[in-house]
Amino acid sequence: MQELIEAGLREMDLSPAPGAALARYGQLLLEQNRVMNLTAITEPEAVAQLHMLDCAALLHAADFAQKAVLDVGTGAGFPGLVLKLCQPDIRLTLLDSLDKRVQWLAQTAPALGAEDVTCVHGRAEELALQSAYREQYDIVTSRAVADLRVLAELCLPFLRVGGVFLAMKGPDSGPEVDRAGRAISVLGGRLQTAYTYQIPGTDVTHKVIRVEKVRPTPERYPRRFAKIKKDPL
Ligand code: SAM
Repeated sequence: MQELIEAGLREMDLSPAPGAALARYGQLLLEQNRVMNLTAITEPEAVAQLHMLDCAALLHAADFAQKAVLDVGTGAGFPGLVLKLCQPDIRLTLLDSLDKRVQWLAQTAPALGAEDVTCVHGRAEELALQSAYREQYDIVTSRAVADLRVLAELCLPFLRVGGVFLAMKGPDSGPEVDRAGRAISVLGGRLQTAYTYQIPGTDVTHKVIRVEKVRPTPERYPRRFAKIKKDPL
């Protein structure tokens, strides 16, 4: 895995230095995946490409240096923990509603040398109403969690004004992005660019949707999850 990751990082104009830590992360993920459902990807090569390199590509979508970053619906740490291993000065919070995954991350991050990662078990729409989390982050990331209309309501309240929300999406997400325009605006965001990239060594193309927070999110958002799902903005 390490050589594949290092070659991919070089191909993306990123430093290959985190290759060993990312490969170790992939090994720990596959070991734990035998006893806990962490990923549907089970081949080391695919883990290297579709998890490690895919998530590392996000480093080109914003300047992460010394930023307070929240990864919403992080699962087994994607993309948040990959970003932290590539850019150690990130102040990272990993959030997921599944406690078993959060507990695994709390053990795994320090084992990989990422000492100051905060792992939080909870639901985004509940935590975003608490002052300790609301409008506290420079960058919020999310991959494979929900449709962008729903995701915007879960993620934008966490961002301070001036911060950016980066949603990792598939290549055909154009209509989904169009449908989310109203929600993004109501929640205080402004759609910026979509950054498209190909994962090295594959023919897989992904997109990062970049949304800037330009106004505070109105206090009544986020709503309860059932309401967000039933009646998306
Ligand atoms: N981001 C990871 C990735 O790309 O591999 C995990 C994706 S997994 C399909 C979606 C994750 O989002 C699950 O771990 C789930 O527990 C979490 N999740 C879903 N809704 C959530 C919410 N409202 N608040 C926090 N986590 C949530």
